[in-house]
Amino acid sequence: MKRKMWSCMETQKHVIPFIDDQLSISDLDAFLYHMEHCPDCKEEYDVYYTLLMGMRFLESDNMSALKMDSEQKLLSAEDYLYKYKIKFIAKILCFVLLCVGMILQL
Ligand SMILES: [Zn+2]
Repeated sequence: MKRKMWSCMETQKHVIPFIDDQLSISDLDAFLYHMEHCPDCKEEYDVYYTLLMGMRFLESDNMSALKMDSEQKLLSAEDYLYKYKIKFIAKILCFVLLCVGMILQL
């Protein structure tokens, strides 16, 4: 998978969808990649996350809304992406093995 390079503006547009788990895998990848390398956007994200979660907490009495802080959210997204990539590679490997198997049978 080729990594997308996002500008700061583009990344900040995706902060809310990220918090809401609405990014596609490739967007998630680009988002996390930018977060790793840009302290400005990371700070922006922290502020948004705290604000949004604070608001949601006030709106509902659902304690679980606050179970993660912004840092944990980033880490769990990275973990998710990592597992997704492993599965993706595993699928390709299976496919290749299947093809090889079919070719050998011919
Ligand atoms: Zn940035």
